[in-house]
Amino acid sequence: MENQHAIIKGYSEFSLSRAGVRSDLVGPSMGAYFKIDHDVSELLPYINATYPDAKFYEQPEHVQFTLGGIRCTLYPKDVIAAPFSGEDQALQFVKNLIDVLNGLYLNKNSLKPDYKKFSPVSVLDLYKLVPQTNCKECGYMTCMAFSAALSKGETTPDQCPHFMDPISEVAIYPVFDKQGNLEATISIEIDAIKLQLNLKKKRPLKNVQFYPRSRRAKIFTTGIH
Ligand code: SF4
Repeated sequence: MENQHAIIKGYSEFSLSRAGVRSDLVGPSMGAYFKIDHDVSELLPYINATYPDAKFYEQPEHVQFTLGGIRCTLYPKDVIAAPFSGEDQALQFVKNLIDVLNGLYLNKNSLKPDYKKFSPVSVLDLYKLVPQTNCKECGYMTCMAFSAALSKGETTPDQCPHFMDPISEVAIYPVFDKQGNLEATISIEIDAIKLQLNLKKKRPLKNVQFYPRSRRAKIFTTGIH
């Protein structure tokens, strides 16, 4: 029976894409994108307060946290999450997340919100996203040089052919250690227009959501503790 007090009744635009650096170590991993049917801006500080590993970001405002072993990036109406082994697991996650958000809304008067924002990023964190083989295909002499350029917005992730396709303008890349454990997620807000032009020259980009409002590269990282 439908919960009459729920603010979120459903979702739309669900898609799954292959995602993840070094996913060859652990088999295919998938990233999910979907929209929820209610703006949850007011709940982001409550998630920040409730989940020990939550990080709250601004511009664009979103929170990253782990729910049932899945790293979730939640915007007011958009969700990106990874890694999944397949669609069933991802759809179950959608249901769990909606239940969590509706539960937080119902109980928020008894919770204390946390408005503290997390600050971005280091070159070393970006270095975790590349294979560290120094192959030079990006035009830089080393992966570290590429990471440094990426952190300054001087290049884009698509210039390294060993990055996976992003699943959104705000791309979430799970990073695995050598044993295949999820070590961190790194999200990169890319310049959608420039990326689209670059990729048009090489190959069509599937399952990418573009939001033209963003013009500059912004890069954030989140460690898993
Ligand atoms: S293309 Fe550049 S960043 Fe990517 S693996 Fe090769 S040297 Fe490293």
